[in-house]
Amino acid sequence: MRRRNASRTSGGSGARVRYAIEAGPTRDASLTDTNLLLKALYFAADKHRDQRRKGAGAIPYINHPIAVAHMLSDVGGITDATTLAAAILHDTVEDTDATPEELERQFGAGVAGIVAEVTDDPTLTRAARKQAQIDHAPRLSKPAMLVKLADKVCNVTDILERPPDWPQWRKDEYVRWAREVVEALRGTNSALESKFDEVADWRE
Ligand code: ZN
Repeated sequence: MRRRNASRTSGGSGARVRYAIEAGPTRDASLTDTNLLLKALYFAADKHRDQRRKGAGAIPYINHPIAVAHMLSDVGGITDATTLAAAILHDTVEDTDATPEELERQFGAGVAGIVAEVTDDPTLTRAARKQAQIDHAPRLSKPAMLVKLADKVCNVTDILERPPDWPQWRKDEYVRWAREVVEALRGTNSALESKFDEVADWRE
């Protein structure tokens, strides 16, 4: 494991501390759960720094992956730090310049593998990507199923609480599709599945 100390760029009042976050090819035992989660938050916040959510209020994008990780912990009862870190990072490869190699180098193969499983294939059309999520859901690893499930709970909650500027049919279509993905994930975590049903049923 390479460990570098925090370095300070020289300069006047504009100087800022930038912490190096290199972890090596596999998760090192010295990278504690807390350290892993804070590092994932730091990394994801930096990668998503210029992005906003589509919904009302255009909240900072990073609120979403934090909500997904919190949903896993708070509702799903998940305590595994690898799964929670992957939840924090789940949209970085799909929506930012982060690469699978970068995630593996920074967070290890376990976290990077989960993120890869929940990342859509960019070469597919939008419709094919949506169908692929339904088709692949039953074959995902358990941690990837959990992240996918919490992601759908949070997205449908957002459509309800912070509706994007979409026509009604598009919102309905999203919820119907999310329900199909969740149906393919049944048996993964009953608390998260019940939470999804509660939100989606209220929506429809
Ligand atoms: Zn997401």
